[in-house]
Amino acid sequence: MDSTTRIFQIEGGNFDEIISEAARIIKQGGTVAFPTETVYGLGADALNSEAVRKIFQAKGRPQDNPLIVHITDTEQLDMLARDVSDSAHKLMDAFWPGPLTLIFRRRDIVPDVTTCGLDTVAVRMPDDPVAMALIEQAGTPIAAPSANISGRPSPTTAEHVRADLSGRIDAVIDGGPVRVGVESTVLDMTPDIPVLLRPGEVSVEQIRECVGEVRIGYTEHRAGAGEIVRSPGLKYTHYSPQTRLVLVKGNSQAVVDRIDELAREYRAKNFRVGLLVTDETAEHVSADEVFLLGSRYNASAIASNLFAGLRYLDQKDLDIIIADGWIEQDGVGVAVKNRLNKAAGESVETGKTG
Ligand code: AMP
Ligand code: MG
Repeated sequence: MDSTTRIFQIEGGNFDEIISEAARIIKQGGTVAFPTETVYGLGADALNSEAVRKIFQAKGRPQDNPLIVHITDTEQLDMLARDVSDSAHKLMDAFWPGPLTLIFRRRDIVPDVTTCGLDTVAVRMPDDPVAMALIEQAGTPIAAPSANISGRPSPTTAEHVRADLSGRIDAVIDGGPVRVGVESTVLDMTPDIPVLLRPGEVSVEQIRECVGEVRIGYTEHRAGAGEIVRSPGLKYTHYSPQTRLVLVKGNSQAVVDRIDELAREYRAKNFRVGLLVTDETAEHVSADEVFLLGSRYNASAIASNLFAGLRYLDQKDLDIIIADGWIEQDGVGVAVKNRLNKAAGESVETGKTG
């Protein structure tokens, strides 16, 4: 902590050199932030308690929010997990490597600090050449939560990681912007019927098509104090800009009209107003700062812009950010709406919501 963070910029032919240096840091018990296809992760040797503790310290992560362990082959899974069902094998065949995290009963080799003392472990095989090469070279599973200060929007570029964690971690590998932009789908495989704990790019429909019945185990609101949650991380504030954020919900022109009305009202009060809106909505509204999310009919584009947009507007010295909730729910759209709901401190309903 409070030392220099090395920046490894992947360019030209230096890939192998960077990976072996970063893997050396992991093997020695250090922390390295690296790109995955979902968001940037902050990695450490998942089997080394001392190393994993550094992740919690650097992020200011609550001690009861367990980490996802990243692997590159199924032998590593056998080392970490027990009772891996046929359904789980089907899911791994269909979606690994990819943005699906599975929760299993854990083996004793996994330190308590990695799972926060739970008898289960979350595992995923990331689909990113840097992440895969790093895990392979390090020769150990890598525990890696998102590489942001806890509670802040997840990082989708190395610059976001630097802004949050510079001086607090050993190194960042800059592999450019990530592909997906929202965190992995989390599915608990320990009950007879799997439970979806967090929506991501792999959709509930895709999972159902693969293994049949799935229960929904997450909520769209921030869990209140004392509320019992299945996934410990769900009870904390997430993805939040420091600026007050109001989400206008619905899926009709009423959303656009309400955003326009709110922006005018706040500006009349001399508020500096920022808008986080789709391209279509942007044509009908104005404010001090406008961040374009992409088309409301292209949830993938919005997913890859969402966290960058929250961070961009948060730096603009605004009094309020108004966010556009009119986003189609196809595919990753469910995950985008979920992150927006969690990021917003307040919301305004306009009737029909998708
Ligand atoms: P992050 O890596 O910061 O995106 O967060 C990982 C998510 O996975 C959090 O919401 C955790 O609560 C959840 N998670 C990790 N391990 C487990 C586990 N063993 N059981 C339930 N949820 C888990
Ligand atoms: Mg996170």
